[in-house]
Amino acid sequence: MWSLETKVSHISKIGKALISRLKYIEIETVRDLIFYLPFRYENYQHLPIDKLRLGDYANICGTVEMINSKRTRFKRKALVEALISDDSGTIKLLWFNQPWVVKNIKVGQRLCVSGKVAGSDFDLYLSSPSYSQNESSQKIGILPIYHLTAGVTQKQLRTLLKICLDQIDIKEYLPKEIILAEKYLSLPSALKEAHFPSSDINTEKARQRLSFDELFFMQFASQLYKKQISALKSDSIKFDELLIKKFVNSLSFDLTIDQKKSAWEIIQDLQKTTPMNRMLEGDVGSGKTIVAFMAIFTVANNSKQSVIMTPTEILATQHYQSALKLFGKKINIALLCRAQKYFNGEKISESDLLAKIEKGEADLTIGTHALIQNKVKFKKLALVIIDEQHRFGVEQRQQLKQKAKSSPHFLSLTATPIPRSLALIIYGDLDVSIIRQMPKGRKPIITKVVAPEKRKLAYDFIKKQIGEGRQIFVICPLIDPSDILGFKSVKEEFERLDKEIFPNISVGLLHGKMKSDEKEEVMKKFMENKIKILVSTSVIEVGIDVPNASVMMIEGAERFGLAQLHQFRGRVGRGESQSYCFLFSEADDENILKRLKYLESCNDGFELANFDLELRGSGSVLSTQQSGRMDLKIADIKDLSTTKKAQDWAKWCIERGDEKLIDALRQKMGEMGFTSHRE
Ligand code: ADP
Ligand code: MG
Repeated sequence: MWSLETKVSHISKIGKALISRLKYIEIETVRDLIFYLPFRYENYQHLPIDKLRLGDYANICGTVEMINSKRTRFKRKALVEALISDDSGTIKLLWFNQPWVVKNIKVGQRLCVSGKVAGSDFDLYLSSPSYSQNESSQKIGILPIYHLTAGVTQKQLRTLLKICLDQIDIKEYLPKEIILAEKYLSLPSALKEAHFPSSDINTEKARQRLSFDELFFMQFASQLYKKQISALKSDSIKFDELLIKKFVNSLSFDLTIDQKKSAWEIIQDLQKTTPMNRMLEGDVGSGKTIVAFMAIFTVANNSKQSVIMTPTEILATQHYQSALKLFGKKINIALLCRAQKYFNGEKISESDLLAKIEKGEADLTIGTHALIQNKVKFKKLALVIIDEQHRFGVEQRQQLKQKAKSSPHFLSLTATPIPRSLALIIYGDLDVSIIRQMPKGRKPIITKVVAPEKRKLAYDFIKKQIGEGRQIFVICPLIDPSDILGFKSVKEEFERLDKEIFPNISVGLLHGKMKSDEKEEVMKKFMENKIKILVSTSVIEVGIDVPNASVMMIEGAERFGLAQLHQFRGRVGRGESQSYCFLFSEADDENILKRLKYLESCNDGFELANFDLELRGSGSVLSTQQSGRMDLKIADIKDLSTTKKAQDWAKWCIERGDEKLIDALRQKMGEMGFTSHRE
């Protein structure tokens, strides 16, 4: 008997060439094979010709009336055309690029064909059908179709699957309560129905069951992690209502309701003796920093330390500046980056700074990866905050947390508006607070989709803005000039703007292939207004604050998701002056333009993310790092109800306190190859 780990090379008669082709599509074991699921099905039926409908998969037997070959008018490709009739009618058969077909079929012959009905309602034809004299060789029933490359054929895969499913005894692993309550197929039947379906209903049932499993294990992993955390001890941070009220009253603005609510949720968490594990989500400019600062303030008043880690030195500096401004002398603030060491607004030597942190004098330490170094030690670290956590690896987050003596409270800040459904899947272990409202009095950014012929006007407008002292961002989608898709590459665009369009204006270039200190250098120049126009790839995305920038120009806008475009747009509109976002697109597809136009009227990142999620899937909403946490094969991330169900059942399994069940599921999770992204 085989196990899931059995290598496909064990299958008798499988050749070396096929083994290596399978390896290319990541099939090496029996498990890889049986979880290689079809992405659609073709349901072949025997139909009389007059009953055929567009999109049907049909088997027809009839008499060949005519056959000839020609070349298509435009591309001069080979085209074989035939007519076949049965008692009910006649239909056309077309074969593209298969000139030899004409030799194999004779007029007057009885022929059986299988294929998809294509064309239009008034002019139907079967598109490149398979054909044979023999009825018994026709495709019958529901045929699974797999995504295949590397020269593996559908037939080969089906043959291998048949052998494997016969040879392996797959055991059900879900508790019977779940199967019964949800009326799911058992695992063996689900796999069998997925690959060798007996009816449309059963393929759907198989899909439901296998999607559930995938989501279930993901949720199981996060709930398990949650439970582990709840067993940890952390310092309870007392909340001094009066003190916080005074602090809030000292601000130059009123907090929004969402800010208050989020701050409240965080402060509640901090009081517990188990660590907080929370994500604070809010659009660019929604005011997350002040909420985080309220938590930091509370921690400092308990004579404990906090730390903020950011992905770039510029962001760390920005947080440091805001902290100085906001706290004044109320708490001690340290900045620790590779190139910069400051304490309460003064330059300081590294050793002195490290000493202040280690002695517990620094209430708040802000920095980059530099914080992770061994020599950075805290006396009483109680709160760890990570800005844009998806930019850090699990390791790095863990290393920072380990600097606390007991388990620290953890807060992650993110400006990617992740719809709740997605957040539940990829960050299921985190509690989520969301700031949706923008602070009062923000001037909305004027957004325009610019037609190609109006480009010159846009450049004139930019010159005027620069004349008034403003600065400009230009975002381009790709950096390679050999880019066959013809999208503007950032280097080419930079050269063009620098030399041709704006020869007398300083233009800077920023892209992901630059070293991080080169990048920081360019950003610094831009922030110091030494560069007027910054041409960049999407690396600019994360929280850079340049209040003087008033125009965001985006080339090849159709290449980005709406949520991402919205993030770019958030780079401007941070100062006093009216800001603008111009979207350029060479696309003339109406739907693409409609999608972009949506940005002209909508300013809500969450709404845009939801819209994009529906339209283009998760990839357009998440960054690559976030998508990487979510390699769903079967389940649909938009399927919120199954996700919720999976989460409830995962909780149920864990809360029953049945250690044997938990261990068994944990083991299965590994065996079945469901990955866990938790630490
Ligand atoms: P982000 O959520 O992008 O990190 P910030 O925290 O940097 O946003 O806030 C953006 C700006 O808005 C800051 O200058 C901050 O002082 C200001 N701000 C925050 N909350 C409010 C509010 N409730 N009313 C007015 N301005 C606010
Ligand atoms: Mg921020």
